[in-house]
Amino acid sequence: MAQRNTWQRERVREALADARGFVSAQTLHAGLRDDNTGIGLATVYRALAGLAASGDADSLQSPEGEALYRACSTQGHHHHLICRSCGLTVEIEAKDVEHWAHRTAAQHGFTDAAHVVDIFGLCAACTAKREAGELRQAQEPGE
Ligand SMILES: [Zn+2]
Ligand SMILES: [Zn+2]
Ligand SMILES: [Zn+2]
Repeated sequence: MAQRNTWQRERVREALADARGFVSAQTLHAGLRDDNTGIGLATVYRALAGLAASGDADSLQSPEGEALYRACSTQGHHHHLICRSCGLTVEIEAKDVEHWAHRTAAQHGFTDAAHVVDIFGLCAACTAKREAGELRQAQEPGE
């Protein structure tokens, strides 16, 4: 039905694959606009939703409630560690979470249960940068 939008969706998929971490529709749209693709924000939203629905992209909510997307290299169910400063994303398995989610759902009589568990934090590089900054700040006043 949406055949005429196929090239746009393909272009959005490429842009998503080029992004280094999770990105919002606005961020992706800004990049596509710089490339003069003429793809509108609404089309980017639709393409991302379609890619997420077909399993070609992962989606999650940022702590601020914004929908973020990523073309993940891992197929199938997995979890993410995401740096909230630089966006670095690590795909992780979480076997403990799988067992816990399955058991908890079963205990309450739930079947066909799914879950979304992603960890937001500061990556090692950003942590080191922040600590260096704090160190500098702590030393400055007395000197
Ligand atoms: Zn992923
Ligand atoms: Zn980082
Ligand atoms: Zn899981």
